[in-house]
Amino acid sequence: MCGIVGFVGKQSAAPILLKGLQQLEYRGYDSAGIAVMDDDGIRVEKVSGRIARLCEKTENGAAVPGIIGIGHTRWATHGAPTDINAHPHLSNDGRFAIVHNGIIENYLALREELIADGYVFRSETDTETIVHLLEKYYDGDIKTAVMKTAARLEGSYALGILCADAPDTLYAVDRSGRAYEKRYLSRRW
Ligand code: GLU
Repeated sequence: MCGIVGFVGKQSAAPILLKGLQQLEYRGYDSAGIAVMDDDGIRVEKVSGRIARLCEKTENGAAVPGIIGIGHTRWATHGAPTDINAHPHLSNDGRFAIVHNGIIENYLALREELIADGYVFRSETDTETIVHLLEKYYDGDIKTAVMKTAARLEGSYALGILCADAPDTLYAVDRSGRAYEKRYLSRRW
């Protein structure tokens, strides 16, 4: 089972995200990554293997400035445990970054639809369909884009979402199975 962490506050997000990911290491995982947002947009750093490698790559977070971010430890279900398949995943326009726990059962149909729409996939994951759906449905209202995206997903998921147009907000959505209602949260943490 993967792990998701999110942080928004007054101090650098990356070191806190890395610490959170280290606390989730006991669950087992095959790759890890963080996305941090500042005035220049969203920056993603991700690696296969141990979180120590991610700490090294980001100078323990110092190389990734910003006070809001999301992090993920991956347990690969769709696509090999590579750097590219690691989360977070970015939309083509760089506006959205997401981390995902779970499986999108209808990802193949969604992937075909999105490729036909012109979206370019970088990874082999089911997760990447979600971030392109967010871009597709975004017309200036993040909540609507999230709700429209969630309505297209079959399977189980918990998501952490950043949007460059909302630099002080983390979005989280979860759906633990078809018997549960979709839930949407948007708040400052
Ligand atoms: N299905 C997603 C993937 O393979 C998420 C796996 C997870 O929950 O870590 O990337």
